[in-house]
Amino acid sequence: MSDRLVAFIGLGSNLDDPHRQLSRARLSLASLPGSRLRDSSPIYRSAPMGPRDQPDYLNAVVVLETVLGPHELLRELQSIEQQHGRVRRRHWGERTLDLDILLYGSEQIGDPVLTVPHPGIGQREFVLYPLADLAPDLDIPGLGAVQSLRDRVEAQGLQRTDLVWLDAG
Ligand code: ATP
Ligand code: MG
Ligand code: MG
Repeated sequence: MSDRLVAFIGLGSNLDDPHRQLSRARLSLASLPGSRLRDSSPIYRSAPMGPRDQPDYLNAVVVLETVLGPHELLRELQSIEQQHGRVRRRHWGERTLDLDILLYGSEQIGDPVLTVPHPGIGQREFVLYPLADLAPDLDIPGLGAVQSLRDRVEAQGLQRTDLVWLDAG
């Protein structure tokens, strides 16, 4: 396919076996129409943003080649979140699965439903570390080199885990 674009997707979970949630989500992403999974970061553990009275998160980033447009991709991600039983209880609250479009090629998008690059990229350890693992030379449109962003980000207690991606749900 000639019109494939590379999208970076951020995964997060802190409910109902987050290791399995992330692994199942990765398989769902790999089987999206017109899409191919190119790479997956190590799995990280992070302290919650926002409300503190919730479990730690597991986070990772995957690279997808896709012919889906950015809004189609967002709808597919939301449908996978729903399949994982996501319920929105409170802002930045606990969730079985969060899938965010971090980057979509080098596009910059800002409309009522979609902001790309994702607005949190520059401030989040749990995004910058796995992004830099996957693409050390990445330039984030409007922000700059991923490695210098990672080296400047405020420490938030991120830990890299030894967890391996599970290949069966
Ligand atoms: P944050 O976006 O700060 O990480 P969150 O992931 O908890 O918070 P959600 O409840 O998952 O937020 O999503 C809220 C809305 O964000 C979605 O309905 C979606 O329209 C919008 N949104 C805007 N830009 C993006 C993006 N790049 N990826 C995913 N959702 C986005
Ligand atoms: Mg999010
Ligand atoms: Mg989200």
